Amino acid sequence: MTLLATKQQRPERTNEKVRNLKIAIQKSGRLTDDTIELLRKSGLEFDAYGSRLFSKCRNFNLEILFLRDDDIPEYVQDNVCDLAIVGANIVAESSAKVTILEKLGFGICRLCIAVPKDSKINSVAQLSGKTIATSYPNLVRKFLEEEELCAGVMQVSGSVEITPTLNIADAVCDLVATGTTLRTYGLRILTTVLESEAVLVANVQSLQSAFRGDIDRLLMRLRATLAARRNKYVMVNAPLEALPRIKAILPGLDSPTILPLARKDMIALHAVIPEDVFWDVIERLKKAGASGILVVPIEKMIL
Ligand code: AMP
Repeated sequence: MTLLATKQQRPERTNEKVRNLKIAIQKSGRLTDDTIELLRKSGLEFDAYGSRLFSKCRNFNLEILFLRDDDIPEYVQDNVCDLAIVGANIVAESSAKVTILEKLGFGICRLCIAVPKDSKINSVAQLSGKTIATSYPNLVRKFLEEEELCAGVMQVSGSVEITPTLNIADAVCDLVATGTTLRTYGLRILTTVLESEAVLVANVQSLQSAFRGDIDRLLMRLRATLAARRNKYVMVNAPLEALPRIKAILPGLDSPTILPLARKDMIALHAVIPEDVFWDVIERLKKAGASGILVVPIEKMIL
C-alpha cells in the first residue's frame, strides 16, 4: 500500500529530460575558436582541447559535441543534438529543417561567384553555358534557377579557387572573407550568392520539449554576451545648455542617464552606444560641446 502511494505521488518523468541538452559546434575550422570563446564568455565552464569529441559543462546542463560542420545541420534535424553553432552557409546548403535562433556576428563571409581577372565573363547572364566549380552545389543550382540560367555545376570538396587555372572551370563559387584568397588566385568577384555568418540553430522538436527552459536560459546568456560586445558604455561631461543637442545624438538604451556635477552649469551623461556607430557618435558629441569622454567596455548586457 505504502509503495503504491509513493509511486502515485511521484511526478511523471519523461525520457526527454533524463539526458542533458546537447549543442554541436565545429570541431576544427574557422568558427571553432570564436564559438568556444562565446560559450566561455557566456559563463559556461568546459574543457575543449586537442582531439576531444565531447565535453560536459561543469555549471550548466549542457553537453558539447565537437563535429565536422558539414554534418551538423542533419544532426540537429535528426535530434542527435538539440542546438548547434554553425555557418549559415552550411545550413543553407543542406536541406535540413532546423530553426535559426540567433545570428552570432562572427564567421562573417559571402558566398561569391568569381571569375579569372582577364575572363570575358562580365555579367551573371554570361555564365550561361559555362562551368562553375564549387563546394556549394545546391546553393549554386538554386541561384542559377532564380537567374533562369543554364550552366554546369562542378562539385569539388576543396581548393576551388585553383580550378580555372587548371582549365576545368570557367568560374568558381566559394566563400570570401577578406578576399585575399581570390586575389592570390587572380580571381575577381562577379556576384554574391549568399551573405553568411555563424548562427545558433535548434531542433524543431527540442524547442517544444522539456528542454525549452534550458534553451531559453542559454539563449539569454549568449544574447547578453553578444549585446555587450556590440555596444560601449560612454560617459561624457557637457555644459547644461548643450543637453538638448547631446540628448538628440546619444541613442541610449531608452534615454541617457543625466547626473549633476559640482559645477552647476555642467552635467554628466552616461549612455550605451552601438559599436557600429560609435566613432560617428563620438565626433558629433564633441562638436555638440561634450568633453572628458570616457568609453568603457560592457561585460554583459541583459535586456
Ligand atoms: P579570405 O581569403 O579571407 O577571403 O578567405 C577565403 C577562404 O577561407 C576560402 O577558402 C573560404 O572557403 C574560407 N572561408 C572564409 N570565410 C569562411 C567561413 N566563415 N567559414 C568557412 N570558411 C571560410
